[in-house]
Amino acid sequence: MSDCLFCKILKGEISSAKVYEDEYVYAFNDISPVAPFHVIVIPKIHIGSTDEINGENSVYIAKVFEAVAKIAKTEGLEKGYRVVNNCGEEGGQTVGHIHFHLLARRNLQWPPG
Ligand code: 5GP
Ligand code: ZN
Repeated sequence: MSDCLFCKILKGEISSAKVYEDEYVYAFNDISPVAPFHVIVIPKIHIGSTDEINGENSVYIAKVFEAVAKIAKTEGLEKGYRVVNNCGEEGGQTVGHIHFHLLARRNLQWPPG
């Protein structure tokens, strides 16, 4: 998607601070962190939101969570972390390329606001 912010990050047209990368997944520091550790994990194909996950592309979502487990080990998040996916307007999604917030290094409240 030519006008997608995170596709532009994947193509290197917008710079980002890489935390992890493999064949399926890219992860980078959020530009506006809400926790001391705030990484955005995205699939390397354009999927607009959770609504668009299907049998053809779900391997990318599985790979996102494999990447989360690897990042948690590499970054020493043994005290715990939270993975957040915002979907749609009321879900708080502002970028139309599915992404997963990996939040850590502070006490995360439950339920969220
Ligand atoms: P959403 O609100 O859609 O769940 O999350 C989008 C996230 O992308 C936000 O946390 C926002 O700070 C982050 N973000 C938006 N634009 C950029 C950018 O250009 N670079 C980086 N690294 N993060 C961005
Ligand atoms: Zn995209």
